[in-house]
Amino acid sequence: MTVTRFAPSPTGHIHVGNLRTALMNFLIARQSGGEFILRIDDTDPERSKEEYVDAIKEDLEWLGLHWDRVERQSDRLDRYAAAADELRAKGRFYEAFETPVELDLKRKKQLNMGKPPVYDRAALSLSDAEKDALRAERGQGVWRFKLDHARIEWTDGVLGDISIDAASVSDPVLIRQDGQVLYTIASVVDDMEMGVTHVVRGSDHVTNTATQIQIIEALGGTPPSFAHHSLLTGPQGEALSKRLGTLALRDLRARGVQPMALLSLMARLGSSDPVELRDDMGALIDGFDITKFGSAPTKFDVEDLFPLTGRYLQTLALEDVADTVRDIGVPDELAERFWTVTRENIQTLHDLEGWWVRLRDGAEPVIADEDRDFISQAMSLLPDAPFDDGTWSSWTSAVKEATGRKGKGLFMPLRLALTGQARGPEMADLMPLMQVVKARG
Ligand code: GLU
Repeated sequence: MTVTRFAPSPTGHIHVGNLRTALMNFLIARQSGGEFILRIDDTDPERSKEEYVDAIKEDLEWLGLHWDRVERQSDRLDRYAAAADELRAKGRFYEAFETPVELDLKRKKQLNMGKPPVYDRAALSLSDAEKDALRAERGQGVWRFKLDHARIEWTDGVLGDISIDAASVSDPVLIRQDGQVLYTIASVVDDMEMGVTHVVRGSDHVTNTATQIQIIEALGGTPPSFAHHSLLTGPQGEALSKRLGTLALRDLRARGVQPMALLSLMARLGSSDPVELRDDMGALIDGFDITKFGSAPTKFDVEDLFPLTGRYLQTLALEDVADTVRDIGVPDELAERFWTVTRENIQTLHDLEGWWVRLRDGAEPVIADEDRDFISQAMSLLPDAPFDDGTWSSWTSAVKEATGRKGKGLFMPLRLALTGQARGPEMADLMPLMQVVKARG
């Protein structure tokens, strides 16, 4: 059975970059009737916050990315300790005592000599007596995994065949000086014990994957399939990392982005398939193919979400948005008509309120100086209520006749005078609705 996981660290709100990872893992599991685990990577007690765990769940639920079970790394510390013991017993784990300053110095020296800044394994040649002395002086050391200096190879679901020389990578620290277990080993133990078959994550994890493959093998396991998707950039190709804070899923939700618009974009962006709006999860699952994704950084423009959201909203019936329509104050008997008239001219549901207020209170007319006479002439030709579907057409014909104006020069000033907006629903539909709302008082 296919088992995937989304493994956020609850140290902040999740953003579009995380969503890409979550969605791909979700879709792969659902495509094959497999299992999708939400794994909370909370081994860092200082940075992990319960409020972020709740927020992550809320964001995923909003999107409909339902998980089959939740696992928390903080509940599994004994499992990681057992794995550490196993690596120790197998001679693949060693204690090292260099301070961060010393390590930094070593790195600088190596770089000056044109060498890659790889940990030199000096700790491996310490005698027991030397270790005791260092421990007495500096306290506990960190624990490093001893890589086997061979090539580490795998066929990546996105990047294709990968081959990394283990000697070009530092032996990873798996346990910090204060005893805190680090992600690299915790994740491996979880993936093995939870039967994870496919790991999709960002390409910033490629080196982790290389070391994790060796750790899994050292622990007697079989590595899962790995796929590393490219990282998102801004629309100009600029790094997104600094802006991700403003691209939190909850901010997009607050701006009115609809889940299916966001998911439709993220399930295709960076692949050779075109972005197509899907209005249900089943279609999204069926149409997903990770092999179509490329390794080049993927440009993401948050503004693309709004027209997609608008198109999604057009597919909805009143019952899908009835709460919003009621909340902004539209009386039930006008709700159907209001929604039908406005839905093609909104990008998000937030835009509905503006249209309702304009209908209810009357719009602030916008009249250019050169249109003043024209508008007063037009108003004198306005037929008496009640208005119907034909009112706009017969009125504008009469105005055209009387003023000689036509096309945009005729319609736009009238639209601006009646709605205060240069764009909006069909005037033929809007006019009778305006009048009905006004007549209600
Ligand atoms: N907690 C890790 C992260 O957010 C998980 C990476 C992984 O998928 O293994 O980067």
